[in-house]
Amino acid sequence: MPKRHILLTPGPTPLPPEVLKCLSEPIAYHRTPQARKIIGEATAMLKEVFQTAADIFTITSSGTGAMEASMVNFLSPGDKIIAAHAGKFGERWAKMASHYGFQTVEVTSPYGFAIKPDAIEKALKENPDVKAVYVTLCETSTGVNHDIQAIGKIVSKTKAILVVDAVSGLLADVFEQDAWGVDVAVTGSQKGLMVPPGLSFFSVSKKAWALYEASKTKKFYLDLKLYQKAMADSDTPFTPAITLIIALHKALEMIKKKGLKKHLEETAQLACATRAAMTALGLQLFARERVSNVTTAVVVPDGIDGGKLVKIMRDEHGVTIAGGQGEMKGKIFRIAHLGHITENDLTVGIEVLCEVLNQLKFNCDVKKAIAAFRAVLGSKQRLKIGV
Ligand code: PMP
Repeated sequence: MPKRHILLTPGPTPLPPEVLKCLSEPIAYHRTPQARKIIGEATAMLKEVFQTAADIFTITSSGTGAMEASMVNFLSPGDKIIAAHAGKFGERWAKMASHYGFQTVEVTSPYGFAIKPDAIEKALKENPDVKAVYVTLCETSTGVNHDIQAIGKIVSKTKAILVVDAVSGLLADVFEQDAWGVDVAVTGSQKGLMVPPGLSFFSVSKKAWALYEASKTKKFYLDLKLYQKAMADSDTPFTPAITLIIALHKALEMIKKKGLKKHLEETAQLACATRAAMTALGLQLFARERVSNVTTAVVVPDGIDGGKLVKIMRDEHGVTIAGGQGEMKGKIFRIAHLGHITENDLTVGIEVLCEVLNQLKFNCDVKKAIAAFRAVLGSKQRLKIGV
């Protein structure tokens, strides 16, 4: 195994040393004033990154747990929803809804493209009984950012709530829950938040609370009322992954100190530089519009085995990038640039990518790629952080 360990995946992402240090401290008991202080402060800082005044709850689960919480708490059997999707993670909304027996209107775009807000507007007009619209901020499987702001304008005029999977997008792409009219946003700890996997979070607007009161779907571990009752005392209803919450508190303090805007600008700059490097190599980006700052998805050149490329980079060079998922398996690879991924990590990643591509007989010039990467990072021009 190579000594090097560079993680360029869109979750889990690398951890800052300060967060790693928290994780090696002796375990804390969670029912203490000290733990409640940490939970309360972490929740307040989460509201700043979600850009919301709404309630936010922490679940001990991966991101999908919060996705499920945002279905079972607001719907009743037979209710109708819109699931908008153009990739593997958006499809999870439709699968989950079908599992629970909710009627689902699917609004889709081809992989590599964004959901069209007009298509959601049309679906809502045709289905005035829709209770909730489920969408994704960054579709991690394709590297596309969906236009939540435009979708929010449409959904907020209706009775339906807007639920956004911001599991990968939060803290990499711009997201403004309240200003954009989002009712429920969900995320996980292992991406932009720079904490290991194991925590998920979801926010709940007043409009969504009204649906909770009417919801007849059975739930136990994920019942929002239990989380609300506990949170009144900065507590959680079940044993929380307290070590992760302490780590989260540290990571959020670091983001706050740097400033959310600066954090997003730096991520946008690394994303833009990575895209420039790929283009300089003659590679094609998979996302055809609204390219997200979470991850750069790249089409594997003809004649190259995408799985082999990822494997050689990981096993022989210690650089882990992500392959394609589902029908994109072997056809794309994905290089992430969110959270604590640094310029140095990406430089090594690009160098190793070039070396392995050359080994697999795709001619590429590493100097060109690094020059393009550095040109973006060195440019004084301020990048627009939105897409
Ligand atoms: N949604 C998106 C957009 C994601 O990127 C992921 C994880 N890659 C998930 C949902 C699922 O999260 P988890 O694996 O933490 O359950």
